[in-house]
Amino acid sequence: MERSLRVATDYRGCLICHVLDKDETDYMASLQYQTIKDERVRQGVVSSNGYCNFHFHQMARLASPMGNAVLGKGLIEREIGEMEHGSLESNWEIDCLVCRYVAEREEVYLEELQILLTDKVFQKEYEGSDGLCRIHLKKVLNSVEDVLSRFLLKTQVMHLKLLKVELDTFISKVRSTSRDMGYEKNSWWVAIEKWVGKKGLKVK
Ligand SMILES: [Zn+2]
Ligand SMILES: [Zn+2]
Repeated sequence: MERSLRVATDYRGCLICHVLDKDETDYMASLQYQTIKDERVRQGVVSSNGYCNFHFHQMARLASPMGNAVLGKGLIEREIGEMEHGSLESNWEIDCLVCRYVAEREEVYLEELQILLTDKVFQKEYEGSDGLCRIHLKKVLNSVEDVLSRFLLKTQVMHLKLLKVELDTFISKVRSTSRDMGYEKNSWWVAIEKWVGKKGLKVK
């Protein structure tokens, strides 16, 4: 399914991380299914040497024990072959298919954001959202004109100030053992995501 950053302004956290996380989940679900159904897809995963640490653990939770066993066996057979032929040197690297897919989608969204930001209506929506994590802000700043760069930095400061207020509210509510949490309920993870991006985001 094709997603757009336009829908992401309704959710909490970084716009790009939000859609990227959805794309990643969909891709892993479909890849997991295909590796069981389609021998060629499984061979593709084996020849890329499996998945990176983060995605292998994620994929393992999506797959059945049987699916994991079949893939594990494929990887091991390949490794034995490489070792016996003394060609292991080229085989240490893992070319994770999920990482590659996420990186491609990230580029698409970074480009989409640059186009959307030239639209005043979207700028308003952007101001009303949680904006971007530091990783994506830096990436966008690297490739936009001065006017947009000033807009993004000004908005980032506004978002950080608002988030600080939310964290203050959260902290004082927890201290006073109030159970009446509002919008600030998720402020702590929004703050973490603001810093490092979504779970498993690779910083290149
Ligand atoms: Zn992000
Ligand atoms: Zn990966």
